[in-house]
Amino acid sequence: MSVLSLRNTKFPSRVFLLDTTLRDGEQTPGVSLTPENKLKIASKLEEMGIDFIEAGFAAASKGEFKALKLISEQGFKAEIYSFSRCVKSDIDLAADSGADGITLTMPTSDLHLNCKLNKNKQFVIESIEKCIDYAKGRGLIIEFLAEDGSRSDLDFLESVFMKAAECKADRVCLCDTVGVLTFEKTIKMVSRLTKSLQIPLAIHCHNDFGLAVSNSLIAIKYGAQEIHVTINGLGERAGNAALEEIVASLELLYGYKTNIKTNLIYETSKIVSQLTGIYVQPNKAIVGENAFSHESGIHTHGIIKNPLTYEPIPPEFVGRKRILVPGKHAGSHGLKENLKNIGFDVSDEQLSEILKRVKDLGDKGKKVTDADLQAIAETVLGLPKIRPIKLKKVIVITGNNIASTAFVELNLYGKAISGSAIGVGPVDAAVNAIRKLVLDTESIQLEKYHVKSITGGTDAIVEVIVNLRKNDKIVTSRSVRENIVIASIEAILNGMNILLADYKNLRGNEN
Ligand code: MN
Repeated sequence: MSVLSLRNTKFPSRVFLLDTTLRDGEQTPGVSLTPENKLKIASKLEEMGIDFIEAGFAAASKGEFKALKLISEQGFKAEIYSFSRCVKSDIDLAADSGADGITLTMPTSDLHLNCKLNKNKQFVIESIEKCIDYAKGRGLIIEFLAEDGSRSDLDFLESVFMKAAECKADRVCLCDTVGVLTFEKTIKMVSRLTKSLQIPLAIHCHNDFGLAVSNSLIAIKYGAQEIHVTINGLGERAGNAALEEIVASLELLYGYKTNIKTNLIYETSKIVSQLTGIYVQPNKAIVGENAFSHESGIHTHGIIKNPLTYEPIPPEFVGRKRILVPGKHAGSHGLKENLKNIGFDVSDEQLSEILKRVKDLGDKGKKVTDADLQAIAETVLGLPKIRPIKLKKVIVITGNNIASTAFVELNLYGKAISGSAIGVGPVDAAVNAIRKLVLDTESIQLEKYHVKSITGGTDAIVEVIVNLRKNDKIVTSRSVRENIVIASIEAILNGMNILLADYKNLRGNEN
């Protein structure tokens, strides 16, 4: 699916991807994953079709060993790797965990050798020989990683890789450990190394200068055959090359096929965000909230006529949907689509009045949600306010040493319904109660929940914005309150009221 037709025939017939979300990605400051959560991510990577999974560092802790074991036991198609230093005990633990292979690491730059290990170059060569022999004896596949390779003397690095190949390492990897490679240097190093090597060369790039993805791609063009990637570009400091960006570039810019089921990319990104607690910035390529959203009237007009005008990546390619955002830059074409999405067919005259009111709201600095749009449309069209669900009562009990419990009473299509649920906190409990009462039976999913404090202090006003999905339809709604539980419930009910309102049969205003 090459949309830009920049096919480049210099790319090798097959690029391998090693995902290190569970190793380098887990070294993101503040991230720590349980073995069970590592398995969840590994399963998703397997489903996506990744070649190699670096699942952790077996010698780092008991939990890491357990995670490696758990993932290795699954019989995945992907090969499972444990990070390992050039130390016998690391290799043993990796082999004992049942991993298929190791990413065997040794620094090669003078800086690291002198300041970190206090060893000379001879030591590096001797250790490699000993460790690779030993690891081979334990039946492991070996990718040898030259740590800080990009700042190493190229002659020495070449001799190290030649030694690793001679000792029967399966692959070697040039690590740009601190992300300082430029295009020119990448080309110089990779061309030279691949010329002398008989085994595949991988590249591991960091994003300190924002060049991780570009450097990885150029390395492939000049003969490397494998890229180290992470979901959402997680990793030490500024992170690693993002899987989603590498795969989309290879496939859409260079017309090259990878093994990845690209339609699972967004789903996987969201799972990784949830489990790591590291959320991506809204303007992040491919997986950011805004990556497929359009507000400007000029853009939405173009998009509706032909998506290629302003959409270089088809949203469905990465498992996403296009979002046209109403706001002060909105135009009538986009707004008409927004209104159709929430159930309103409008005349041109009505449309221009609604547009005027939307722009007024935008000028006041407000983010316009579908719930706002619904209220405006009802007023302009002279329709009754249709709200199938109303909140009657909510009681929440919370404390230490007890599960938070919520009791919720609603009025749905004129009928009173009530129920209770528990949760990790008061908001979670209340949302779970609503889920039990309505969301599940109406097959509505809470896609996104976002809360922010508008003012400071313990009596701060909080704003909750949610995205709800029913089948193909996604709507946004909001509530602003001093009470976070009530704001959360109201935001969800406001969104459900859009999804359940039926203006054609005027169903939903029975109460
Ligand atoms: Mn790294």
